[in-house]
Amino acid sequence: MLEISNLTHTYGSGPSAHHALGGIDLKVAEGELVCIVGPSGCGKSTLLRSIAGLLRPSGGEVLLNGVRIEQTPDNLAVVFQDYSRSLFPWMSVADNVALPLRRKGMDKKQRREAAVEALSEVGLEKAAGKFPWQLSGGMQQRVSIARALAYRPALMLMDEPFGSVDAQTREDLEDLTLRVRSMHNMTILLITHDIDESVYVGDRVVVLSKSPAGIVGDLRVDLPGP
Ligand code: ADP
Ligand code: ADP
Repeated sequence: MLEISNLTHTYGSGPSAHHALGGIDLKVAEGELVCIVGPSGCGKSTLLRSIAGLLRPSGGEVLLNGVRIEQTPDNLAVVFQDYSRSLFPWMSVADNVALPLRRKGMDKKQRREAAVEALSEVGLEKAAGKFPWQLSGGMQQRVSIARALAYRPALMLMDEPFGSVDAQTREDLEDLTLRVRSMHNMTILLITHDIDESVYVGDRVVVLSKSPAGIVGDLRVDLPGP
C-alpha cells in the first residue's frame, strides 16, 4: 500500500518560487491502478518524480508498505514517456531488460530467463536479440514495460507512458498494461492528461488542480462489463 501524506514541492525560492505541489494526500491500495489527471504544467510529473525518489520534495512523506520510499528503491519501477531516451541503443533488447536485475543480485542466467519471460509477456519474445533502434516506437515502449515487469516491483510508476505513440498503438499499450497488471496484481500509478485514457485504464481517477497542484477529484471507475 502506498501512502502519500501532505506532499509539497516548491521550485526555486524568493520572488521566483513556484509552488508545484500544494499538500497532496493520497492512499493507493495494493493491486489498484490509479490514474492521475490534470492540465499540462499542473504538477503531475513533479508528483511522480517525488514518489519515485527522483526529486526530493519540500515537505511531506511517501510510504510504501510502511517504509519511506527512498529506502525501498528495489520495490519501484518507472516507465517514462520518452522511450527513445530510456533504452540503451548499444545493448540488445534482452540486455536492456535484464540490466536492472543485477541490482537484485540475480546471476547472468537468471537475468536472461527473467528478461525473456517479461518480453514474452509483452509479445516481444522474437525481438530479444534486436537493438532498440530496430523497433518501432510502440515496440520500444513495450520493451520499457517489460523491463519494469521483469523487476517485479511492488509499485509501477508510469509518466505519460503512451503519450508519444499513434492512436492505435496507444490503445494496444493500454490493453497490454491492463493485461500485465491483472497477471501480476501490480499496484500502478499512471499519469496522463487524457481523461478518456484515465477512465479506460484506471480503477480510480484522481484529478489535480492547477498549481499548486491539489486533489480536486477522486473517482472510482466502474465501466459496464462487455
Ligand atoms: P505536468 O507534469 O503536470 O505537466 P510538472 O510537474 O512538469 O507538470 O510541472 C509543474 C510546474 O512546475 C510547471 O509550471 C513547471 O513549469 C514547473 N517546473 C517543473 N520543473 C521545474 C523546475 N525544475 N524548475 C522550476 N519549475 C519547474
Ligand atoms: P512534462 O510537462 O512533460 O511533464 P515539462 O515540459 O514540464 O514536462 O518539463 C520537462 C523538464 O523540464 C522537466 O525535467 C522539468 O523539471 C523541467 N522544467 C519544466 N519547467 C521548468 C521550469 N520552469 N524551469 C526549469 N525547468 C523546468
